Amino acid sequence: MLTDNYYMILEKLDAVVIGAGPVGLACALEIQRQGLTVVVVDKGALVNSLVGYPTQMEFFSTPELLEIGGHPFPMASYKPHREDALDYYQRVAVAEKLDLRLYERVIGLRGQAGDFVVETAKGEIATRAVVVATGFFDVPNLMNIPGEGLPHVNHYYKEPYAHADREVVVVGAKNSSAKAALALTRAGARVTMVVRGPEVAETVKYWIRPDLLNRIKEGRIKAYFNTTIDAITPHSVEITTPNGPISIKADYVYALTGYRPDYSLLVDMLALPLNENDPALPPIFDVTTHETARPGVYVAGTVCGGLATSRWFIENGRHHAQLIATAMTDTLVKA
Ligand SMILES: Cc1cc2nc3c(=O)[nH]c(=O)nc-3n(C[C@H](O)[C@H](O)[C@H](O)COP(=O)(O)OP(=O)(O)OC[C@H]3O[C@@H](n4cnc5c(N)ncnc54)[C@H](O)[C@@H]3O)c2cc1C
Repeated sequence: MLTDNYYMILEKLDAVVIGAGPVGLACALEIQRQGLTVVVVDKGALVNSLVGYPTQMEFFSTPELLEIGGHPFPMASYKPHREDALDYYQRVAVAEKLDLRLYERVIGLRGQAGDFVVETAKGEIATRAVVVATGFFDVPNLMNIPGEGLPHVNHYYKEPYAHADREVVVVGAKNSSAKAALALTRAGARVTMVVRGPEVAETVKYWIRPDLLNRIKEGRIKAYFNTTIDAITPHSVEITTPNGPISIKADYVYALTGYRPDYSLLVDMLALPLNENDPALPPIFDVTTHETARPGVYVAGTVCGGLATSRWFIENGRHHAQLIATAMTDTLVKA
């Protein structure tokens, strides 16, 4: 049933970009520069994933490697923080006069190349082509253990200040866990890390890993390696260490065990075929055009890697925009 808030764009657009992340914005502005009409739809805020990152998070990339559409990202310091990047992408979106539909979740896609209807929670948009740039940050990898849904258990880490003088368990030992454990400790929390593997991941950035190893060595951060979590209760985490089961006190738990693309969106709602021969289950797409096995639908950015969430990031994913804009223009102009 149609409500007052429900709308339909009946005049067919050339393209709809799903996802207002850095790569979705890059795609939209390149498509627009080809003289095509485009809107960007996002279920949340502009650059929603970055909004969800920890406050003051420092990017590992230097600013010029995060630039899109040739817009300079001037910085006095070496590496941008989350707030610098939020500012930058917002300014680019405004400068390019992108047509944004924020807080509007895409829930389906009907039709075929040249004649699609994008279904959103607020309406329907007719379009010739679609770009899926939905990233991977919306679905956490769950541990599937009792107590994981308790209110003091988080899969996203924002900032440490509420946790001074509290017992905090951090699960995992990759970049996000390492950074969170260090920040929490420095803000006065008593941190215990629970790590499935034998050591702090080798992939932890070279300027963070020694800091964490030294804090563990001096006993400021407690760490259990080769350890699994069996359950979480309102006040404890039950673990199995190589020396047997232990119960550790926990006022807060950060299970920073990574994220995965939203496969219900990709497969059930957008009907994108996946590459079953690749264990990372990425969507099938042509690497020269980024068009998927569903003609007229393109993929861009981190979503292209499927479960291999570090295969594509902003630095390399932003270049998908030109490939897609060129391929789309060729197809739409020929049609
Ligand atoms: C902590 C952290 C630090 C990082 N640091 C760096 C770095 O220094 N350099 C670098 O290159 N990369 C970095 N990355 C990786 C990079 O930030 C991400 O890969 C980047 O956000 C990817 O951009 P994207 O546009 O592909 O996807 P995203 O930025 O994730 O954008 C996807 C968008 O799609 C929207 N969306 C999802 N589902 C729907 C739906 N159903 N309907 C509508 N909209 C939807 C989301 O709300 C989101 O806004 C970092 C990642 C993390 C987690």
